[in-house]
Amino acid sequence: MASRPAVHLHVAGERMDTGSGGVHEHRDPSTGEVDARIPLAGPGEVDRAVNAADAAFRDWKRTPPEERRRLLLRLADLIEANAEEFGRRGTMDNGTPASVVGGMTGSAVEWTRYYAGWTDKIAGELSSSFTSGVGELNYTLLEPYGVVGIIITWNGPLISLAMKIPPALAAGCTVVCKPSELTPFSAELFMDLIEQAGFPTGVCSILPGDPAAGEALVVHPKVRKVSFTGGPATASKILHACADTMKPATLELGGKSANIVFDDADLDAACGLGAMMSVGVLSGQGCAFPTRMLVQRPVYEEMTARVSVVAKSIPVGDPWDPAVLAGPVVNEAALERILGIIERAKIDGARLVAGGSRIGGDLAGGYFIEPTVFADVDPHSELAQNEVFGPVLAITPFDSDEDAVRIANNTRYGLSGYIQTQSLSRALRVAEELVTGEVLVNGAANLRVQRPFGGIGISGMGKEGGRLGVEEFLRVKSVGIA
Ligand code: NAD
Repeated sequence: MASRPAVHLHVAGERMDTGSGGVHEHRDPSTGEVDARIPLAGPGEVDRAVNAADAAFRDWKRTPPEERRRLLLRLADLIEANAEEFGRRGTMDNGTPASVVGGMTGSAVEWTRYYAGWTDKIAGELSSSFTSGVGELNYTLLEPYGVVGIIITWNGPLISLAMKIPPALAAGCTVVCKPSELTPFSAELFMDLIEQAGFPTGVCSILPGDPAAGEALVVHPKVRKVSFTGGPATASKILHACADTMKPATLELGGKSANIVFDDADLDAACGLGAMMSVGVLSGQGCAFPTRMLVQRPVYEEMTARVSVVAKSIPVGDPWDPAVLAGPVVNEAALERILGIIERAKIDGARLVAGGSRIGGDLAGGYFIEPTVFADVDPHSELAQNEVFGPVLAITPFDSDEDAVRIANNTRYGLSGYIQTQSLSRALRVAEELVTGEVLVNGAANLRVQRPFGGIGISGMGKEGGRLGVEEFLRVKSVGIA
């Protein structure tokens, strides 16, 4: 346990070693062994943090935009200066391989700098009607909500913080954040850096906690808005809890995103992206990953064979080994859940072309699953319809463009859509027809900060990224002057 950093509850500038929510035994997912005991917040600490954030809001919303920008730019510089340590913490948190975790730190720096730049560009709209005889001047004020309750999940602990906290602070809101108890180490360092950057006390508090702490945060009367990343079942509970007071919520949830590979696609690129982004990177634990590959019939067998070769070649293992690209899944519950889905997919008649088992040998103590690829997946089956959140890809053939769109849209989710084609007109047409919050063509990157991200259907509501990302933390007041 000595090798893990201490974790605290950060309540309005105070660091607490213990919390009334008890203790979470953090396990190293690559060994299954307990490696740290994490103090958890209970409703009492949540209440104190929210009251402090509410008190801090009065000054924070009046803080000149250039001062808010200076503090956020300072935070971005500190994240960048601590990139190596964030890399280590990412691996400690959830077993993200050292070889990939660095890129996520760079992304967190970009999100923080981008929203620093928005502090002095928040502006409403103006309309006048003097010439029409009505004789009114109308304008809108964009006002920060107040205290925002932020609840995030465990798969990208640093980037999830950076996608929510900087835009909230840029907008002039104050923040109480509950990270997942499964991944406390990155959040601890993030909070240290917020303090080092010089944000006023109470403007941001981060408290690890379990679902009960999340519930206490959501229902707190001084929390004016909730921003949540996690699963649809939890999101539904949060919406119900918000309903009594009509509290607004931004919800970033799961996905079952289709990756449509047309027969005119660059198959080398489509194969590398399709395999790595579904069963390699983060061991498939990404909300927006292309986990259903729909392949046009003429290239179907070739793509299936090539994707299975790539999947079998992905180095899985000790996440601290720089040659490893895929680590364990987050915990034993996830391991059992994913293995169950794999077994049921076999029974459902899908053709297993790569992986399909837990990894044993030296890795038997950890939660390692082989990169797994199923072909001939029935689009109505459990594997095609439900998010796995693990290294499992479902491949299904299609004939026409209409066929592809119909299968892609046959889901309750609507987070991302991927298109692989050399035809610009086909890409533009299909992009319009996909019922998703975003479409990525020919390898456009996930989570570019300039591009609003967020789903529809059971993938959620609201956006992160771009101007809309800061506007999630602002409410509109209209003023009319006769
Ligand atoms: P989860 O919904 O179980 O937990 C997410 C967070 O909510 C945790 O911090 C948890 O403690 C808290 N929580 C649980 N119950 C709560 C309640 N009743 N009230 C308030 N808070 C509560 O999700 P998970 O299983 O940890 O995460 C996986 C899910 O997250 C997947 O569906 C994945 O696709 C999704 N996800 C979405 C995005 C995105 O940006 N769209 C990003 C990453 C992960």
